[in-house]
Amino acid sequence: MTNATINPGATIGVLGSGQLGRMFAIAARRMGYRVHTFSPSSDTPTGQVADVEIEASYDDLEAVRDFAQAVSVVTFEFENVPSATVETAAQFTFVRPAGSVLHTTQNRLREKTFLSDHGFPVTPFKAIHSLAELRSTLAEFGYPAILKTAGFGYDGKGQSRVKSPDDLEEIWRPYAEQEMILEAFVDFECELSVVAARGLDGAFTHWGAIENTHRNHILDVSIAPAALPPEISREAVEITRAVLDQLDVVGVLCVEFFLTRGGKLLINELAPRPHNSGHLTFDACVTSQFEQQLRAVCGMPLGSTELLRPAAMANLLGDLWEKGEPNWAAACAFPDVKLHLYGKMAAKPGRKMGHLTAMAETANEAAHLVRAAREALCAPVD
Ligand code: AMP
Repeated sequence: MTNATINPGATIGVLGSGQLGRMFAIAARRMGYRVHTFSPSSDTPTGQVADVEIEASYDDLEAVRDFAQAVSVVTFEFENVPSATVETAAQFTFVRPAGSVLHTTQNRLREKTFLSDHGFPVTPFKAIHSLAELRSTLAEFGYPAILKTAGFGYDGKGQSRVKSPDDLEEIWRPYAEQEMILEAFVDFECELSVVAARGLDGAFTHWGAIENTHRNHILDVSIAPAALPPEISREAVEITRAVLDQLDVVGVLCVEFFLTRGGKLLINELAPRPHNSGHLTFDACVTSQFEQQLRAVCGMPLGSTELLRPAAMANLLGDLWEKGEPNWAAACAFPDVKLHLYGKMAAKPGRKMGHLTAMAETANEAAHLVRAAREALCAPVD
């Protein structure tokens, strides 16, 4: 394997098959690359637009070997892939970002320990192995605090807010067999993220600070540019740059931050791949996070991340289908709003089915517009 540029016409392998892989595949196919996707499912959001969809377990290392041998580079759209899968793929082709990045970021304890060991600002946290440890750490952190599973957590899954010393046993019971982490509760002013990319040559690009609001622990609306003092945005970008350098990332990585009421930035989480808060880059930027991931993992020069117009993104969750098919025409009646659907068949509550991106003169207007368009989806169909 040589580190030569991987040119259009080559085939890129994607581990995982959700919406991130779908948008990656759209960007890759637009530039003349082929895409193979690997996951345990079929007719997936990525598979529907990829050249080849491989349905196999991540533990089927023979299938992983065949997949890796057929592609020029493997990347991810899902970080909870077992280490053995990544190690097997790496024997046969390039894996970018490297398995070590995945290993660090797929477990909250490893991630937070890595960050604090390298001097990055994080929420106070502690590993918890027993009810007694939970009690003593709560005495230190105070109430409320957030108890999270160390592995396989996303969108608020596997986490509980601990509000008082009552009911501790009940809260602890379902988690007793798992590796847990307790975090002090952050009384934040706002949440923001910086999505960034690092090339094979160490080049760094970013899309600036994006402001995020969550509903039920799931991202609801993202706005760019974030309405933050410029020095806060600059600091968030500099922290992000240092994280990508420290992890030696080749690809895209998102850093999610809390901005405390005291004006301090704390890292909440890292995602070693394109991120939901960066979806607006697909329509609103010269180069999207998905195209940049492609360029980075192919050893290509990175593209401009310039924001063409202020933008806002609103997620479309399965709850929208509760009263039947949403009124697509009503949302499409907003000419500055773009509709993205991920091709998922079953609309379950909380499931990310698609998103809308609005562009306007200001980020505030874009946020207003994207919310109005989402509301319109609930209007009765004529
Ligand atoms: P996570 O899965 O860790 O990204 O958490 C999802 C959301 O829960 C975050 O975006 C916050 O809105 C909230 N959250 C998580 N951890 C904390 C914390 N330590 N303090 C306050 N809110 C939190």
